[in-house]
Amino acid sequence: AAEFAGLKAVVTGGASGIGLAAARLLASRGARVACLDLTPDDLPEPLVGIRADVVDDASVRAAVEEAARLLDGIDVLVNNAGIGAQGTIEENPDEEWQRVFDVNVFGMVRVTRAALAHLRRSGSAAVVNICSVAATAGLPERALYSATKGAVLALTRATAADLVHFGIRVNCVNPGTVDTPWIGRLLDRAADPEAERAALCARQPTGRLVFADEVAAAVVHLASPSSGSTTGTALAVDGGMEGL
Ligand code: NAD
Repeated sequence: AAEFAGLKAVVTGGASGIGLAAARLLASRGARVACLDLTPDDLPEPLVGIRADVVDDASVRAAVEEAARLLDGIDVLVNNAGIGAQGTIEENPDEEWQRVFDVNVFGMVRVTRAALAHLRRSGSAAVVNICSVAATAGLPERALYSATKGAVLALTRATAADLVHFGIRVNCVNPGTVDTPWIGRLLDRAADPEAERAALCARQPTGRLVFADEVAAAVVHLASPSSGSTTGTALAVDGGMEGL
């Protein structure tokens, strides 16, 4: 039988990039998948799109309940919705600090909290948080973004400790620079996009950007019942950026 046959998965930010790649791979392994996103339209079959804004608790609760109703439960939660921020510690205004923490950290808290009752009933529940190499790498001009991802790493470990008693595993994936629409937008803003792309590639010992499908494979590994003894960990998918 397919690895995820009978399992139901919710992926936030599942309409683009890493989230979409993870949703498609989970579906191809037999899971029923709902993508919660600001823009859940035009998703490929058999993905189910549900509109949700992770900064709005009422929207999150309604969307998670809708997903649980349509899928008949939730076994896997992929917390992937996130936004970027560039700048040194003095360049980002207070409102931006509030906003990026609200999406990247508190958004994850809201969705996990809303899904908890369903995950408890699963019997083989897994939460996979999309973190970043930025959580630990000390990247220049990424103070705000890195701080949110450091919080995600801590949240992952502490939540894993609390939820292990309910049979719920919690892990995160730490990608390097991944070729997604997000990086496309970043390169579009650069003074010299080709030079910027080359610099991003050179930062990773593999010499290229990470593919979204490679991050999706790590998500599927951590979400799978076959990784039942893995919880509270971070899996790097960063071209060797952190480890080498
Ligand atoms: P992306 O911009 O291609 O996709 C992000 C998706 O999240 C979009 O569909 C967007 O609509 C959705 N989203 C944003 N804010 C939301 C909100 N408030 N509520 C609901 N949905 C919302 O980005 P991506 O590159 O696929 O990044 C996904 C995740 O991976 C993020 O958490 C990001 O921090 C992380 N990440 C990305 C990279 C990279 O290089 N691309 C590297 C490390 C980590």
